[in-house]
Amino acid sequence: MTYQTALDLLAKRGVAVEQVAEIVHRLQSPYNADLTIEECVESVLAVLGKREVQYTLFTGIALDMLAEQKLLPDPLQSIMENDEALYGADETLALGIVHVYGMIGLTSFGYLDKEKAGIIRALNNNRSHIHVFLDDLVAGLAAAASARIAHKNKNARTYSAASSEENSVS
Ligand code: MG
Repeated sequence: MTYQTALDLLAKRGVAVEQVAEIVHRLQSPYNADLTIEECVESVLAVLGKREVQYTLFTGIALDMLAEQKLLPDPLQSIMENDEALYGADETLALGIVHVYGMIGLTSFGYLDKEKAGIIRALNNNRSHIHVFLDDLVAGLAAAASARIAHKNKNARTYSAASSEENSVS
């Protein structure tokens, strides 16, 4: 099953679901005080359950692994080895994961790209492996899982036409 393959591949590349869930918790706990790590793990697994997400992971991680084995054609091989700043295909690919859950995911992804929280920073600083794609894929996964929780937040206010009239400020 591709779901299990995606989990195994992440583990093989040094990423545990719990580490992604920690980032999700950090993103969402300011808006949801009762949020548990278990709920964040559940959300990461739900995002990973989508075939489109799994295929995106396979694509990016394959490029990282081929670059480590020096199997890519130049100039791509050199660009990947140098983690060239102007190379943006890693972020572009990861956006494919983020877009599954809309705009909240997009803003979180931008934030994580700057902050490089937790495992994202560890991947980014790891000099013995090439993680050009993986750091962005993990950020995309965390941003999507976080947006998914935001969309399901039971404490979110609901609005109707009547209540907006009642509450209008003159
Ligand atoms: Mg990258």
